[in-house]
Amino acid sequence: MYKVDEKGFFGQFGGAYVPEILYKVVRDLQEAYQPILDSKEFQDEYYALLKDYVGRPSPLYYAKRLSEKYNCQLYLKREDLNHTGAHKINNTIGQILLAKKMGKKRIIAETGAGQHGVATATVCALMDMQCEIFMGATDVERQHMNVERMKMLGAKVNPVRTGNMTLSDACSQAIRDWCCHPEDTYYLVGSTMGPHPYPDIVAKMQAVISKEIKWQLEEKIGRDYPDYLIACVGGGSNAAGTIYHYIDDERVKIVLAEAGGHGIDTDYTAATIQCGTEGIIHGARTLVMQTDDGQIKEAFTISAGLDYPGIGPMHADLASTGREQVLAVNDDEAIYGGYELTRMEGIIPAIESAHAIAALKKLTFKKDDVVVLTVSGRGDKDIETYLKNKEMAKEYGNF
Ligand SMILES: *Cc1c(COP(=O)(O)O)cnc(C)c1O
Repeated sequence: MYKVDEKGFFGQFGGAYVPEILYKVVRDLQEAYQPILDSKEFQDEYYALLKDYVGRPSPLYYAKRLSEKYNCQLYLKREDLNHTGAHKINNTIGQILLAKKMGKKRIIAETGAGQHGVATATVCALMDMQCEIFMGATDVERQHMNVERMKMLGAKVNPVRTGNMTLSDACSQAIRDWCCHPEDTYYLVGSTMGPHPYPDIVAKMQAVISKEIKWQLEEKIGRDYPDYLIACVGGGSNAAGTIYHYIDDERVKIVLAEAGGHGIDTDYTAATIQCGTEGIIHGARTLVMQTDDGQIKEAFTISAGLDYPGIGPMHADLASTGREQVLAVNDDEAIYGGYELTRMEGIIPAIESAHAIAALKKLTFKKDDVVVLTVSGRGDKDIETYLKNKEMAKEYGNF
């Protein structure tokens, strides 16, 4: 079975490259997480909250009109229907339970667009935990509504003014804070990134997505696997959850969409798997977009949730071995994909998820091919972006 090794590596990628002051706390977490996740107490609480609080299982919806258009049998895994509007809550619900069981009192988290910050602030309110969010000052301005949501939920939002003042800087600042409070503080990481064991923890929290796909497909088509799985990839968590129970199943092709921005041959891209080289970012060895002398480059994409210059080590490995096919989807293609899903199925997707929709155009299917595509989130937060760029989807955008 595909899994992380004892030292936290997926092939050559992963590990835990942390400052010495964090050795002990990271070590404690490495030793504590798996027994807790396996315990009946954790499992009972986690699945009860997923059901009654998050609203799971999320539907697996047969998209009839898009199936006809793309000549396949397309099913959408509707993570957009979760409480708080995306898959991120699956992870924060699980990790807050883990933090509580480890006796932690204070939660910190990084956020880019604010989606992970909101999902973290939400579970902290639910569990009555102290919550501080680190967010680049540029993002604080750009994502005003999410900042207000986090504050309303009782979190303290700390604007980060170093570097480009975006997600990557927020991660660094959260790690710095953790160094100052290693004993009482739990760092609730938002994607399959960071030092071991976070990529494994987050993948396991999101694995409920493919666990559900299995029985939902069995129910709908009488077999529990698709021919294709498609998801968008930023740090890699919704993709990891979508593929988790199928990684060893060679019958299933895996196609991921990363953010091409203006294009992979430009400086304005977030396509880390295609443009990155091996390096270390936020505690893990993985693919990183960096300059020749090893400085981390800023990622660029229309989608704040995919705006990360690294990639989860699991995906760096699966892409390099060829298990995953990774396509770069540019801003204009994603905008078009968002309008297309909206007009053809009545679902306004998050701009991140629209990257996965746009991948359909780049593939050739047979009529009987069963395709499961994860709609990672809903598009309420992106309406302005869609409107501002409607000329990129002329077919639908001339209203
Ligand atoms: C954060 C986010 C993503 C990207 O994160 P992953 O960890 O790669 O899943 C994708 N879609 C939505 C809706 C998000 O909020």
